[in-house]
Amino acid sequence: MTDLDRDLWVIGAGPAGLALAEACARCGIRLGVVDPTPERPWVPNYGLWLDDAEAIGVREFVGVEWPRARIELGSGGRSLERGYGLMDADGLRAAWVARCSEAGAAFVAGSVEGVEHDAAGVTLALADGSSLRGKVVVDASGHGSRFVASEPGPGPGYQVAWGELWPVSAVPEAMRETMTFMDWRAVPGEEALDDGLPPTFLYVMPVAADRVFVEETVLVGHPEGEPGSWFEPLKTRLHQRMNQAPAGSPLAELRGLRLGEVLEVERCVIPMGVALPVASQRTLAFGGAAAMVHPATGYMFTPTLRRRDGVAQALAAALSQPEAALAEALATGRLHRAMWAAIWPADRVRAWRLYTFGMGILAQMDRPAIDAFFTEFFELDDARWRSFVSASAPTPELMATMLRYFGAAPWGIQRRLGGALLGGSGLRMARGFAGLRRR
Ligand SMILES: Cc1cc2nc3c(=O)[nH]c(=O)nc-3n(C[C@H](O)[C@H](O)[C@H](O)COP(=O)(O)OP(=O)(O)OC[C@H]3O[C@@H](n4cnc5c(N)ncnc54)[C@H](O)[C@@H]3O)c2cc1C
Repeated sequence: MTDLDRDLWVIGAGPAGLALAEACARCGIRLGVVDPTPERPWVPNYGLWLDDAEAIGVREFVGVEWPRARIELGSGGRSLERGYGLMDADGLRAAWVARCSEAGAAFVAGSVEGVEHDAAGVTLALADGSSLRGKVVVDASGHGSRFVASEPGPGPGYQVAWGELWPVSAVPEAMRETMTFMDWRAVPGEEALDDGLPPTFLYVMPVAADRVFVEETVLVGHPEGEPGSWFEPLKTRLHQRMNQAPAGSPLAELRGLRLGEVLEVERCVIPMGVALPVASQRTLAFGGAAAMVHPATGYMFTPTLRRRDGVAQALAAALSQPEAALAEALATGRLHRAMWAAIWPADRVRAWRLYTFGMGILAQMDRPAIDAFFTEFFELDDARWRSFVSASAPTPELMATMLRYFGAAPWGIQRRLGGALLGGSGLRMARGFAGLRRR
């Protein structure tokens, strides 16, 4: 046994783990973070809307930003007057680690192999044979955690993407002020590829005067084998898009300005619509481990950070109870049930079930249907589509958005939505509306 005894242990120093740890440290909780490599930089490029960055308190760590984003569809393009940014992930990570350390948090390099609860708290068994003792544990070890039990149900869909960072002599003028959030136009020669991929879209971020990040993405799909089996066809589509872009388009201009070889490759697999955790368990969870990825967009950063202060405050209140009350709350599991209600408030559970239902429909759509879907979607009032993609709308507003969308959608989409609503996924959604299940 190490000499480390903490009120709270957080498993994982990814964005979810450190975000929660930093919020808990601010609330004065005696905590520790355990990760095999607590100092390892995060790999993904985290993008988010600037107003969300402000709302979740990370605006100062946006490394690159664009005043607007663009959507391209077969039916035409549209400028979204909403700023978008790319996180300075290294800066944010370093700031959170520093704030935790200043508040006395412990960082332990280790891999958790087992989690054992008893009436007074929890013991974490580490791979090197040592153990850590605490009152409460939050698992933030990412998607597919082995310590968290989830509701039964169908497996998740996957967002899969292949991204490349290219050096260019100079980013074309037309690209500088705008990032492309989604370009859903067909890849030139797509049909002849016959690659079995669902519809894909292009994402473009001119990240510096001489660097452009381009990515081809399956929004959500169900690959027959490993999700990684889609990387090669995605790469082919991306190159085909870049090499055959029609003359005069920004991508064609970019082709002539490219220098040397790809600087970085991003291989992205995000499970979407993952089953929610059950609320009876004593191992709490946060971030990917708690299924917090937005089921219709694949974004996790904003929905997770929006909840961290509420969870930290609930933990601080619970852990600062008089000793006897705390012992009773731990022994009976009352504390854990209250924490799950803070991690997954009933309103967010309802929203997630609605999004997951929508995801199931999106995963079945072909390119013309996707085109019709997003054409209609971005016709919604700005406030409605914004809160839908940011996962910030309360459930009544979200339902109103979906109903309004349903009423205006083309007949083919109405038929699919109606069929799904009356089928298994509609029933599953309705049954889970009260909140997280207990088992
Ligand atoms: C390539 C890519 C790009 C993405 N881009 C975006 C984006 O732009 N915006 C967005 O919102 N989301 C994005 N996502 C989705 C989501 O934000 C990420 O998946 C996110 O990293 C999940 O954060 P997390 O902290 O929950 O888990 P992770 O980032 O996976 O971190 C988990 C941590 O736990 C540690 N750990 C694991 N097992 C153990 C163990 N047994 N003991 C101790 N420690 C352990 C790991 O070492 C790791 O440090 C992207 C995902 C990918 C893969």
